[in-house]
Amino acid sequence: MEKEKDTARGRNDSWREELRRSMSAAERTAIPRVSMRMLDPAERIHSNSEVNLGLTPEQALQESTRCLDCPEPGCITGCPVSIDIPGFIKNIQRGNLTEAARILKETSALPAVCGRVCPQEKQCESRCIYLRMKKSPVAIGWLERYAADEHLKTARNAEHHTDSHSKEREERRKIAVVGSGPAGLSFAGDMVRRGYDVVVYEALHEIGGVLKYGIPEFRLPNSVVEAEIEALRDAGVTFHKDTVIGKTLSYDDLLNEGFSGIFVASGAGLPRFMGIPGENLIGVLSSNEFLTRVNLMGAGRPGAQTPVPHGKCVAVIGGGNTAMDSVRTSLRLGAERAMIIYRRGIEEMPARAEEVEHAMQEGVEFLTLCNPIEYIGDEKGRVRAIRVQRMTLGEPDASGRRSPVPVEGAVDTIEVDEVIVSVGVSPNPLIPNSIDGLEISSRGTICVNEDMQSSLPLIFAGGDIVRGGATVILAMGDGRKAAAAMHSYLNGEQS
Ligand code: FAD
Ligand code: SF4
Repeated sequence: MEKEKDTARGRNDSWREELRRSMSAAERTAIPRVSMRMLDPAERIHSNSEVNLGLTPEQALQESTRCLDCPEPGCITGCPVSIDIPGFIKNIQRGNLTEAARILKETSALPAVCGRVCPQEKQCESRCIYLRMKKSPVAIGWLERYAADEHLKTARNAEHHTDSHSKEREERRKIAVVGSGPAGLSFAGDMVRRGYDVVVYEALHEIGGVLKYGIPEFRLPNSVVEAEIEALRDAGVTFHKDTVIGKTLSYDDLLNEGFSGIFVASGAGLPRFMGIPGENLIGVLSSNEFLTRVNLMGAGRPGAQTPVPHGKCVAVIGGGNTAMDSVRTSLRLGAERAMIIYRRGIEEMPARAEEVEHAMQEGVEFLTLCNPIEYIGDEKGRVRAIRVQRMTLGEPDASGRRSPVPVEGAVDTIEVDEVIVSVGVSPNPLIPNSIDGLEISSRGTICVNEDMQSSLPLIFAGGDIVRGGATVILAMGDGRKAAAAMHSYLNGEQS
């Protein structure tokens, strides 16, 4: 069995055996982990340019040489979509970037995106054998980004073309996708490759979901997302923007259009608030609104019409990626003091470690063990201060993180002129509310079986609309799983 797996992963190839023998484990583990080149903090807070500059070919070679090509690679088990990590890394080492990218694309539809935004330190890199030796893990995410970027520079996913254009359009069955985030895009890519005629409907005027409207340019450039979308267009996927399913077109309209299956990937973009006094004051807004105005509607850019608050003293409530993106964006809009207010400690923050580190380098203040209890307004109804309850950490809760417990009588007031609330999101309610017979959970998510199929057999669903707010790689994994399952279903291979 192991032998079969090894063969499938190419571990028995002679080039790989040669690489393994070319250097001892001791020599490999003596090589230091490379450092990511990045823009200087003082420079980058005045620009939207990408902070991480990627690895040079020399760095990629050095880092890929560190990988021990373990017989039982822990990293693969730490990756939610089980990428053949040693396989792609060893191809980087031997200089075959096309093969490295092909291996990545086998399981990850958007490797250039995932290499940038996955929480690698909690996933693949957390299982790298180097950690057992008390050494820095192989920089898997940086290598993933390197292979994907280099491949995007030279190829426009020729593999899509061959399969998707092999059948005449009229003969193909039509599939609708609702939402163009990572779940919808990965589903669309897999289905077009299987020969379906795929139409993606997107409510907004840009394709990409959170990758465009949420994650800022300085972390994930739009050009990277655009390149992946272009590849899907080339492969034959049709995109309709400004089309809200449930309003512009109903579920019945889609059935009347002759779609054989529908994949709902409408995400979780409904911001949550804490329900404390003062949330309606001017200057208090959700991170979704703030980031959408800036990222999607150009607010803050010279000549842009979209208004956005330009607070000088900005507090962002929360400790996730969205909070880090908001606080770093507010600095780029000219905030003189930008702070994170979070009810637990740094260790418990759900944000990617790199985002926290970059925010610190940029001068963001971290007010941890603090929970807002009220926003105070001035005579014009504008927020001017926050009352925060000081917290301490108690026993771990269901998430395994230590729960914050209020310290009696310890309440402080902090002066601010803008508050961005980033305490989580709920599923977008339109689809769940507009399709009769669709089973919905108490959290507002669409209920699916293990094949991502909903209570209505023609509707499959995945990503945040099923999981609540999760991650890019999980959304993409759902898209791929749903594509395989819908294909089997439509071909009568399951009931
Ligand atoms: P989305 O990306 O939300 O896409 C859903 C799309 O459906 C949207 O474009 C929406 O407009 C559209 N839609 C909704 N309703 C309809 C309708 N009725 N008709 C037509 N279209 C509709 N994850 C990470 O792994 N790493 C990170 O660093 C990271 N950072 C993040 C930063 C921010 C600011 C945010 C908000 C999230 C972040 N996440 C991150 C989470 C990650 O982006 C999401 O888990 C992921 O995008 C979910 O993908 P999705 O395809 O399910 O939904
Ligand atoms: Fe390479 Fe680390 Fe994975 Fe081993 S665990 S194969 S050293 S990346």
